[in-house]
Amino acid sequence: MGGFFGVASKEDCVFDLFYGIDYHSHLGTRRGGMAVLGEDGFDRAIHNIENSPFRTKFDKDVQKMKGTYGIGCISDYESQPLIIRSIHGTYALTTVSKINNVDELIKDLFKNGHTHFQEMSGGDINATELVATLIDQKDNLIDGINYALEKIDGSLSLLLMNEAGIYAARDKMGRTPIAIGRKEDAFCAAFENFSYKNLGYSDYKELTPGEIIVMTPKNCVTLYKPDNDMKICTFLWVYYGYPASSYEGISVEKMRYNCGEKMAKRDNVHPDIVAGVPDSGIAHAVGYANESGIPFSRPFIKYTPTWPRSFMPTMQSKRDMIAKMKLLAVEDLIKDKSLLLIDDSIVRGTQLRETTEFLYQSGAKEVHIRPACPPLLYGCKYLNFSRSRSDMDLITRRVIERLENGKVTEEVLQEYADPESEKYENMVEEIRKELNFTSLRFNRLDDMLDSVGIDKSKLCTFCWDGKE
Ligand code: SF4
Repeated sequence: MGGFFGVASKEDCVFDLFYGIDYHSHLGTRRGGMAVLGEDGFDRAIHNIENSPFRTKFDKDVQKMKGTYGIGCISDYESQPLIIRSIHGTYALTTVSKINNVDELIKDLFKNGHTHFQEMSGGDINATELVATLIDQKDNLIDGINYALEKIDGSLSLLLMNEAGIYAARDKMGRTPIAIGRKEDAFCAAFENFSYKNLGYSDYKELTPGEIIVMTPKNCVTLYKPDNDMKICTFLWVYYGYPASSYEGISVEKMRYNCGEKMAKRDNVHPDIVAGVPDSGIAHAVGYANESGIPFSRPFIKYTPTWPRSFMPTMQSKRDMIAKMKLLAVEDLIKDKSLLLIDDSIVRGTQLRETTEFLYQSGAKEVHIRPACPPLLYGCKYLNFSRSRSDMDLITRRVIERLENGKVTEEVLQEYADPESEKYENMVEEIRKELNFTSLRFNRLDDMLDSVGIDKSKLCTFCWDGKE
């Protein structure tokens, strides 16, 4: 994934920019970047943040940077923000995107006379550079931004900074959010709205799908506001959004309590304790415990002082190892106990199987697993998730392949998506056996969507039901 933050201030903005970006560190693990614009023009720094947090890496840059406008990001992929000299003058650009039609776009751009793109190590081109090139195809910036939003298959939200201010544009279907904050003599734009609260900003507005605004220290003006349908990512609430954030006015933490509450209402087991897999399972478990009356407890605890969130190796086997090293068992809470454990979701199942194994080894009598979202049947094609790269990474798809002897059609998948079907029950039972859980029951799609509480047609559900 990735997240960004931008600020337009009457005074120097570097302090707000630095902490505003840092508050997006849960959204990416590879690159951090910040660019400012002041009396001396543009200045920029980009660092690899794989082995140390954003704040540590940018400590020295912040001492030197000066400017009243600034943008920056935490990115899982390309280095950014980029500073571009173009027909629109010089601007800095940062994006959160997934571009599925890269090859087609490049082919068209070459046909129109564009001659080259820089390749990053690994052979991919820098997605932010591609977005800049699309923007530069049109005669003015707003048409250019709009053109980029329209041409991209996948999703794209961006911040662009030049002398006139900071432009923010939200993805045309609103897959990812942009919130605007305001304080005296400054406006800011952020992926996560909690990121500006401790910096003295209060909520000003959220952009609608496809909306383009420009911010200066004095105002925030809408330049384009189409009447697009919304398909905001539901996973934001379930898993990767930060608990203190809210999107479309709905709190992440509160949504997770609602999920837990709904799962408890449908359940029929009587464990000794309810627990959540740290971190995103915790709030779902609080909701479950409050509704069921079964005590919430923490049978294992994450060791945070030296395992910061941003330390995440890229190799899956190492990631699993690190995930395990972070968890410490509280044996007194586990021994001879029946536990009900809530995780946000089951992707590949490897980590949850190991966690369960670890609970049995620590003396647990029973381990009941309750994922807070329905079985994931389709890989996400709208966002750059590091969690699942292809459909076959998903445990559901591997189990379905097995159950159907390799003959998996779209029609068959739809049957597996129906929680009332026999196929669904067989799939859940196969997963339970494979991962060695005492029992397994997924949250239902309708309950999960009700837990968000906004009009269901505005929520993306593709990874659960394949509906676009
Ligand atoms: S497919 Fe899933 S993860 Fe991707 S945008 Fe839709 S809800 Fe979010």
